[in-house]
Amino acid sequence: MPSAASAFLTVPARGGRAVRLDAGEAIEIVNTHGSQVVDTWALSTADPSEYLSMEQTRRMLFKLWPQQGDALYSNRRSKMLAMELDTSPGIHDTLFACCDRWVYANYGCPPGHANCHDNFHVALEALGIAPPLVPNPLNLWMNIPVSDNRRLAIEPPVSRPGDRVVLRALMDCAVVMSACPMDVTPINGAGCRPMDVQYRVLARAA
Ligand SMILES: [Zn+2]
Repeated sequence: MPSAASAFLTVPARGGRAVRLDAGEAIEIVNTHGSQVVDTWALSTADPSEYLSMEQTRRMLFKLWPQQGDALYSNRRSKMLAMELDTSPGIHDTLFACCDRWVYANYGCPPGHANCHDNFHVALEALGIAPPLVPNPLNLWMNIPVSDNRRLAIEPPVSRPGDRVVLRALMDCAVVMSACPMDVTPINGAGCRPMDVQYRVLARAA
């Protein structure tokens, strides 16, 4: 009998990984240490110009971020992933673009700081996929509270060690994860220290 899940693999702190999922398979992403934001993307492997879109997802859900049980939509308004499980308090972000070399330059960091933008490209290169742009990610566990209807803030995650999210593929796709390297703001916890996370692929439901 085939195993229902792969072994756990690691997204190293400050690094990225990409995996191919057939429709029906799922990825389980574990916030091993509890405080790590994971920028997460998906692209159709049949046509990488179709990608998971936070803009379309917010419009289709009428929510600022998805919850357990919600579908996540592509830029063509197709259901691409389903958030099948979320054991965390359910605080995520879809508003902020991923970090990139330019945001670290703005903070005065020297050139060469690891960033989610570069992690996205490097991780997909390993699968032979070279998209022309970096979509805005689903920022798992990123805590961007909205107040007064429009004011945004950057707060540490409220997730706990071992919290996990399961995203099931509703089409053949590549999922990309970046263990966000941000170490200037407390987006990855008050210690400003990026950490490893783990993931595994789950087989189709029987
Ligand atoms: Zn980042």
